[in-house]
Amino acid sequence: MPELPEVETIRMGFEKYLVGKTIEDVEVRLPKIIQSGNIKNLVGGKIIKIRRFGKVLVLDLDYKLSLVVHIKLTGQFIYQGPDRPKESEISKKYVGNVPNRFTHVIIKLKSQNSKVKSGQTSFLYYNDIRQFGWIRVVPTDEVEKSPFIDKLGPDPIRLSSQVTLTLDNFRQILESKKTAIKVLLMDQKKIGGVGNIYANDALFLAGIDPRRPAGKLLSHEAMKLYWAIIEVLKRGLKYGGATEANYVNILGEPGGYQKHFLVYGKENQPCPNCGGKIIKTRINGRGTYFCPHCQK
Ligand SMILES: [Zn+2]
Repeated sequence: MPELPEVETIRMGFEKYLVGKTIEDVEVRLPKIIQSGNIKNLVGGKIIKIRRFGKVLVLDLDYKLSLVVHIKLTGQFIYQGPDRPKESEISKKYVGNVPNRFTHVIIKLKSQNSKVKSGQTSFLYYNDIRQFGWIRVVPTDEVEKSPFIDKLGPDPIRLSSQVTLTLDNFRQILESKKTAIKVLLMDQKKIGGVGNIYANDALFLAGIDPRRPAGKLLSHEAMKLYWAIIEVLKRGLKYGGATEANYVNILGEPGGYQKHFLVYGKENQPCPNCGGKIIKTRINGRGTYFCPHCQK
């Protein structure tokens, strides 16, 4: 599932290509994707700000309505418009043509952006093969209290999010917890945005066995892990996220972090540190990769 770096990459794309544009029309092909609110109410609104809470994206409109989106496992936003960079190309492998049979929502935008000639039309397509993603229309001043966002833990990276995970918060989250540290890292109610890829790699970077009870981490280990989380998320962002299933940025391009995984997905491959074999196990049903020699 796309995690913080992937969703943040989409957010930055939204900021670049959507802010300042007005929603001219919305076509919904699969009504169940719109979980609440009337999406037609967005027509005529101008997109003024893009926020992110963990893995959730929020598009704020000038007339106090917001579009709240969770792309879940396979959601994609693809932007088509005259201001796309000439060299950019929608991935044939991960997207194909747009719209396609997995395109469930089409947002037609009118540009009042100085970069594009006024009056030119562009489109934002929402594709979702597995259809687990959701879109909600929420009054802007109720976004933070809305279901899901209201229960999110603090974000480890200060970008668009309101709350940031500090080392003190992190220590408190770990304190006296019997849960395996990896499970805790992925609990969105504790920390927003960390999923399986970055939890695996952060634990490797910190040299911590993913199965250890969170509350048993020593003070210096908690600190090491805290900085390792921030480091792997930053690396993910630097490479534009990781593409596994079908994550792409809003230009339809895949990310590159999958070429830089430390241990994630690397069963039986050599550990980047010691050269020993990386082991795969399951914790809470999720594939977990680690080096038994380097992670204690
Ligand atoms: Zn190793």
